[in-house]
Amino acid sequence: MSKKIILIVIDGLGDEPIPQLKNKTPLEAAKTPNFDFLAKNGVCGLVLPWHEKGKLPTSEDTHLAIFGYDPKKSNPGRGVLEVLGIGEKIKKGDVCFRGNFATVDENSVIIDRRAERIEDTEDLIESLNRIKIKGVKLIVRKAFGHRIGVIFRGKNLSTKVSSNDPKKVGVKVLKIKGQKRMVKILEEFLEKARAVLENHPKNKKRIKEGKLPANYILVRGAGKLKKIESFKEKYGLKAGFIAGGTLYKGIGKYLGMEEIKVKGANGTIKTNLKGKFLAAKKAIKNFDFIFLHIKACDNLAEDGKFLEKKEFIEKIDQNLKPILNLKNVLIVITGDHSTCSLRKSHCNLPNPILIYGAKKDGCKKFSERECKKGKLGILKQIDLMKKIFTLTKGF
Ligand code: ZN
Repeated sequence: MSKKIILIVIDGLGDEPIPQLKNKTPLEAAKTPNFDFLAKNGVCGLVLPWHEKGKLPTSEDTHLAIFGYDPKKSNPGRGVLEVLGIGEKIKKGDVCFRGNFATVDENSVIIDRRAERIEDTEDLIESLNRIKIKGVKLIVRKAFGHRIGVIFRGKNLSTKVSSNDPKKVGVKVLKIKGQKRMVKILEEFLEKARAVLENHPKNKKRIKEGKLPANYILVRGAGKLKKIESFKEKYGLKAGFIAGGTLYKGIGKYLGMEEIKVKGANGTIKTNLKGKFLAAKKAIKNFDFIFLHIKACDNLAEDGKFLEKKEFIEKIDQNLKPILNLKNVLIVITGDHSTCSLRKSHCNLPNPILIYGAKKDGCKKFSERECKKGKLGILKQIDLMKKIFTLTKGF
């Protein structure tokens, strides 16, 4: 009988040595007795994140690669994954975007890319859904916090359009470029959305209260749904996922995995870690494979908060108990890509990996430097599933 698998992906886990942490990485500096127990009694190595040539790795590409899918062929665009993650059905031909509320001034210069991370956006979204665009049905849905998913439904729509997001403040929003008709549709939406938002009572109230109005929509990641082999078709395994962040729910759904819902799992530092691990322990009885995603390390590192990243790693470790002594289950723990706290961005450094439940290689601790000595060696992300399967056989 093959073993079952729980794969834990800690987003942005790997990092560089940091002078303020005595030249240790956040993972090395963290007290992680449970990770270390699994590493000591398992096998370790490093995983090279998948990325396009000359670019930094993205979460969606690296996840697809972890699951053994070639990101070049299988990535449908971030918009599709976000919309799936929200729980919205996508029809053939729909063009999906991820988007967010932002604040611009009268000259379309960005003041805040996230409109002070506005959260209560339900009534704004309701108004946006009343916008009419000729020949196209518009669907706007709420995602976590200030984020939204946008779907354009109609005939012969194109994904060949650029984003209006300059990704920094103090500059003008970018002009949309690309396929003529789609540019026109998108521009019409953005213009009408701006008018609706400028006049919305919620924004008038926000201004009165000294807050920034959520008066603009930034869109990016245009994509259409792709038909790909499901995880079940590819590996013959019944798979479930546990995730808080919308993108990761979308990736799970895109691969045909079943969602295991956990109250309070939300992709932030306040996520219900204990609930997630308890749910994984319970669910593995009915599934062959569980993908459990934890987001916050990535966000903390992107904000330069290496100390908080270290502390959050410790918090994950403290909540790991439910899955420590499962019978006939292989535990795999790794990151999707590294996020370098000092650079405040994703980086190309490899991620440590530990696989517990098969062999032992004398690794002392779960960390970048210690895993480098591990018997798994340095793996390409796309080969990871194959490697895991070789370790599950023969039990
Ligand atoms: Zn990531």
